[in-house]
Amino acid sequence: MMRRKTKRIKVGRLIIGGNTPVAIQSMLKTKTEFVSAALKEIEALDKAGCEILRLAIKDNKDILALKVIRTQTRMPLVADIHFDKNLALGAIEAGADKIRLNPGNIYKKNDIYEIICQAKRRHIPIRVGVNSGSIKSFGSQASRLRQSALLVKSALGYIRILEDFGFCDIVVSLKSSDIFETIKAYQKMAKLCDYPFHLGLTAAGPSRIGTIKSAISLGSLLCEGIGDTIRVSLTDTAAQEIRVAKDILNVLGLRKFSPEIISCPTCGRCRVDLIKIVKELQEKLSTLNFQASTRPMKLALMGCEVNGPGEAKEANIGIAFGKSEGLLFKKGKPVKKVPVEKCVDVLLEELSKIR
Ligand code: SF4
Repeated sequence: MMRRKTKRIKVGRLIIGGNTPVAIQSMLKTKTEFVSAALKEIEALDKAGCEILRLAIKDNKDILALKVIRTQTRMPLVADIHFDKNLALGAIEAGADKIRLNPGNIYKKNDIYEIICQAKRRHIPIRVGVNSGSIKSFGSQASRLRQSALLVKSALGYIRILEDFGFCDIVVSLKSSDIFETIKAYQKMAKLCDYPFHLGLTAAGPSRIGTIKSAISLGSLLCEGIGDTIRVSLTDTAAQEIRVAKDILNVLGLRKFSPEIISCPTCGRCRVDLIKIVKELQEKLSTLNFQASTRPMKLALMGCEVNGPGEAKEANIGIAFGKSEGLLFKKGKPVKKVPVEKCVDVLLEELSKIR
């Protein structure tokens, strides 16, 4: 997949853009001021695979908390700022690795200039984070322009202000809750600048539908090579957001977090409980660490021997089930028969030989 050429931007210990792997971002759900709880969540998210974390900075208590949190974790931290330039200045001083500014509510040139001076001094980037919920200041233009055009216009105007002040350490996001407007906005913006993009939908919704919307919108853009970091935003835990983000990158082959499972939907030919077997494989795979693996791996579990091996030819390893046993095959070629109750363990054993 050809990826869009983007500028390299340093966010704490992480480089984003410039053909580096698409990074997974999430946002702390705990209140930032509750330091112990926040650190506990950060540790869990780190383990889950979060690579950049945004925190809401809404007052001085959050700034003081950020200062403490900064000393306790190596996670790249992004301070999410709205309305008040002093919160941005305080967060930079407290050790934020990046600042997210919303052009919809911090727009006075003098305020932006002060923030830029501080960001330059600390060598940290600014995310121009436009959100469809904050672009109503365009007033009557909203009725004449599509939302995607408004998102781009808002971001572009802000970027020009930063550039005019000599600041180019920029990341861009253009979030709407509408998947088509989000896709169009990023596509348009991709032609207008080379700053890295943070992809996301805003308010994507509850877990199941939010996952589908994110997979369609973020997946479409990533397929076009657009996107340097992603955040799946769900009304669910941050750990679930990360799981979904990993799955999206995994199935697109952009990152390799775990082998891809190819399993059939079953039909009248299937004589085993394939749903249970696939769940067992998923659970056992989730306990293994594939971070170091760069090889794409596909495991197939097919309900019958009629179409099984043929349908899963691209899989590295697979099992096609008969009545009481499965036929293990590699690259579509049969190898040996395996009892049904041992099939998952045999598959994992074979997998360990090629990892
Ligand atoms: S692999 Fe066999 S059991 Fe599974 S859907 Fe195809 S025909 Fe049915």
